Amino acid sequence: MLDIKVTKTETPKAKPAKDDPLLFGTIFTDHMFIMDYAEGKGWYDPRIVPYGDITLPPAATIFHYGQGVFEGLKAYNAVDGGVNLFRPDMNAKRSNRSSDRLCIPEIPEEDFVQAIEELVELDKDWIPNEPDHSLYIRPFIIGTDPFLGLRTSAYYKFIIILSPVGPYYPEGLDPVGIWIEDDYVRAVRGGIGEAKTGGNYAASILSQVKAHDEGYSQVLWLDGVYRKYIEEVGAMNIFFKIDGKVVTPMLNGSILPGITRDSVIQICKEWGYDVIEKRIDIAEIEEAWKNGTLEEVWGTGTAAVISPVGKLRMGDEIMQVQDGGIGELSQRLYDEVTGIQLGKVKDTRGWIV
Ligand code: PMP
Repeated sequence: MLDIKVTKTETPKAKPAKDDPLLFGTIFTDHMFIMDYAEGKGWYDPRIVPYGDITLPPAATIFHYGQGVFEGLKAYNAVDGGVNLFRPDMNAKRSNRSSDRLCIPEIPEEDFVQAIEELVELDKDWIPNEPDHSLYIRPFIIGTDPFLGLRTSAYYKFIIILSPVGPYYPEGLDPVGIWIEDDYVRAVRGGIGEAKTGGNYAASILSQVKAHDEGYSQVLWLDGVYRKYIEEVGAMNIFFKIDGKVVTPMLNGSILPGITRDSVIQICKEWGYDVIEKRIDIAEIEEAWKNGTLEEVWGTGTAAVISPVGKLRMGDEIMQVQDGGIGELSQRLYDEVTGIQLGKVKDTRGWIV
């Protein structure tokens, strides 16, 4: 159990107005959590302080070699008047797995969750009430060693910041267009693809820019070796409903094990669907689309929860799904997951904290 010292701001900021569009990740709350690490000493000095700039040595590891990890989850104003977190223990576990891959010291799961809980409790007035709005929570750990040699950092900071957000995509639940990337790759097996670390996202920006310029919301990555097996979308895992079955790429070491993905798999199984986690050749999707068995496509992720995909662009071909509309299962999953998060649907699985 952490003994978190709290220093409250003396100059609280004005909260966003009711009709503020709350573009994702642009506004931050009054406070942040910080905890330091030094080799030989371990994690120390957990504290909540006013949100503000931090000072780091220009030689800090994170700036040069990218030794850092991050997480993303949300707090919701529940219908019973409480504040809900959705499976925060899963974020704590994934953060530690990412840290292991990046040689960053682990943080005990209960400390990770406690830090989030105390910070959110203090800034809970910042959680917006409008539909599809929430408080985005961004925990991250960075190597801060002032040393230019390449080695694991001897010093780290674990920081959590909070940002009130509206819908991630301007489209809301309206289907998004996805660009299938055949030029660049994001990650390879044995690399850092399954860790939530900046390098994976840095590798993705160029394709993201290209896709946006062409009018597509996100990129669908193919594997880095055969260049034909489906991996994931920029910030979402991907699901297909083909001939009544739910199909999604298996966790293979190069894609992020999404918490929404895990939840959707469990829910679909409970609803009686066959859920198949496997290596999916893009040709298989094209084939299903051509023969009319590609019934639905959707992405899963904390930011948008369920994001129906209306079209997929591969080379010169544009595969339209569900006539560009929202599929029945996508809608049902969205209602179920957001319902649990908001406390409208009974949490039978112990996912809400
Ligand atoms: N893949 C990537 C690359 C992501 O950044 C995210 C968002 N964290 C996801 C998948 C979805 O993961 P989750 O459901 O845990 O948000």
